[in-house]
Amino acid sequence: MEYLNTIDFARQLDASDPVKKYRERFYFPQHDGKNVIYFCGNSLGLQPKSVKDYINIELEDWAKYGVEGHFQARNPWFSYHEMFLQPVAKLVGALPTEVALMNSLTTNLHLLMVSFYRPTEKRFKIICEDDVFPSDSYALTSQIKFHGFNPDEALIRLKPRNGEYCLRTDDIIKEIYKHGDNLALVLLGGVNYYTGQAMEMEPITFATHLTGALAGFDLAHATGNLKLSLHNWKVDFACWCTYKYLNSGPGGVAGIFVHEKFANDPTLPRFAGWWGNDPSTRFQMSKDFVPANGASGWQVSNAPVLAMAAHKASLDIFHEVTMDSLSYKSKRLTGYLEFIIEEINKKYSPNNKLITIITPKEEAQRGCQLSLIISNNGKELHKQLTEKGVIADWREPNVIRLAPVPLYNSYEDVFTFGKIMKELIMTN
Ligand SMILES: *Cc1c(COP(=O)(O)O)cnc(C)c1O
Repeated sequence: MEYLNTIDFARQLDASDPVKKYRERFYFPQHDGKNVIYFCGNSLGLQPKSVKDYINIELEDWAKYGVEGHFQARNPWFSYHEMFLQPVAKLVGALPTEVALMNSLTTNLHLLMVSFYRPTEKRFKIICEDDVFPSDSYALTSQIKFHGFNPDEALIRLKPRNGEYCLRTDDIIKEIYKHGDNLALVLLGGVNYYTGQAMEMEPITFATHLTGALAGFDLAHATGNLKLSLHNWKVDFACWCTYKYLNSGPGGVAGIFVHEKFANDPTLPRFAGWWGNDPSTRFQMSKDFVPANGASGWQVSNAPVLAMAAHKASLDIFHEVTMDSLSYKSKRLTGYLEFIIEEINKKYSPNNKLITIITPKEEAQRGCQLSLIISNNGKELHKQLTEKGVIADWREPNVIRLAPVPLYNSYEDVFTFGKIMKELIMTN
């Protein structure tokens, strides 16, 4: 697509955008009486205006019924979590029995590793990204130590080639084969939080299975951002949070995927709780745990209804828009941002080298986020952007992450961002 760096062009794109009306469904923080340019949906998604009503229903029913709300509420809390299986499954390309909502992300990663990281003397290694999100790094190393292994030997961190920022799928697969016989698990981000690189999950999973290891993905930056087909890709397990692209509020309830092939395997060890018990016998208060079918069998505690009500408000919007429409707009919107940044960099930055976009150019290898390395005084530039009403985020040592979110960002947002960036570069 041919882009132009003009306000008229941006407005034309907005006028012909089939999902533009969804912007109105979200609250935007204000700056000088106007909406900020919010490019931080990869960190905390905006609040859908409908959230209050969804939570209010549960508050009203709690006030009205007390404990009887478990059965009398409009959405009975006893089976509250079950309403989510269908829409969440659709969102991540899974069967309804393969997903569950519970706890928070890092907790779920631990719980899933209890079942899917069972190292033996021969097979004990885990492959992850070198620049893995710190919480995942802590989870992986502590799991390895918990099993009595040494993270220096057991944790294989994938580094990009010299002079490159992202991983090549071929290199990932080579590394998987290299450690094949000793490999227990490959655990990667579906989209790397730092570079914005989307992993090619299907071939990576395929290669992992050839070695006899399992493939899990942290989809914190992938759900609500990429079109996923976890079931067909034969991913073994995955987990994600819902407060980033899924707009379900700070610390919101998180999601898990466990492939159907493990649905009824009673030999899998797990840290069990009553909500993971077969619902038909859950209230018999028996001493023996009988896991529910599928991913639900990993639930531990009863559903956090207020957090899940917020998630429901957002999921209903996703259901209406569909990931197909979002993904279509996402490619164009991010492409437009890339075009504008490259143009500003070429025309206005010192030696044309102030900005390097480290996110892959290939559409298949990224979602909506672009990560920029700023060669000089990036932190100051980020601060000035914030002062001008652009909410982006800064990651040490020198990266600005920008996520134009197709659900609520406009082409005009991207244009205006470019205009502000250009002015800041020219006056610095
Ligand atoms: C956001 C994020 C987390 C955050 O974990 P919480 O348990 O929700 O605090 C963890 N891992 C990755 C890859 C993330 O992007």
